[in-house]
Amino acid sequence: MNNLNIDFEKVGGLVPVIVQDADSNLVLMLGYMNQEALDITLESKKVTFFSRTKGRIWTKGETSGNFLHVKSITMDCDNDTLLVKVRPQGPVCHTGADTCFDEPNNSKTLFIDQLRYIIKERKNKPSEQSYTTSLFAKGINKVAQKVGEEAVELVIEAKDNNKSLFLGEAADLLFHYLILLEAKEIELDEVMEVLIDRHNKK
Ligand code: AMP
Ligand code: ZN
Ligand code: ZN
Ligand code: ZN
Repeated sequence: MNNLNIDFEKVGGLVPVIVQDADSNLVLMLGYMNQEALDITLESKKVTFFSRTKGRIWTKGETSGNFLHVKSITMDCDNDTLLVKVRPQGPVCHTGADTCFDEPNNSKTLFIDQLRYIIKERKNKPSEQSYTTSLFAKGINKVAQKVGEEAVELVIEAKDNNKSLFLGEAADLLFHYLILLEAKEIELDEVMEVLIDRHNKK
């Protein structure tokens, strides 16, 4: 995080900064930093920009309290853009939305990361009304059994020609599969590593 040799001359004094949620992977906002803003960010671990509209150093959250706590900072391939992964203290957009890029950002496959995050929360901060919490409470065998049931339901719908029923069961299976991974404390990344390894061996 300290080897950030941004060529500020090349970028005209301001480096574009992509801010991404470290847990959900949602892109939260984009801002600019000058050297001073970058130094303050590294020192305070709170994302601080040079605001072009305010014409001054701006720590995101300075009035709202919605700070962006830095988890990591990396550069792109040619050292002229920063990617900052954060844990946001509250809504990021001044409209009150979680991200400044709601619509275009909700890549449907990325939603799986949000879902995994929510599932983790249901396990770690049990909530009484939550189906997911109640499933965790029943133990791993019950969760595994649910995956089996949903798989069978999907197989049954595969034989039929009702697309919406098939989609429903496909979603059920994926959802319960993610719950099982969380119950086993296995990250989806670990499963992906197995697939990537297999792919690379071919
Ligand atoms: P804050 O830094 O959250 O205390 O907000 C201070 C001011 O910065 C707000 O009144 C807005 O004008 C502006 N602002 C806050 N968040 C954003 C954002 N995500 N994008 C652009 N401007 C923002
Ligand atoms: Zn670049
Ligand atoms: Zn915004
Ligand atoms: Zn089902």
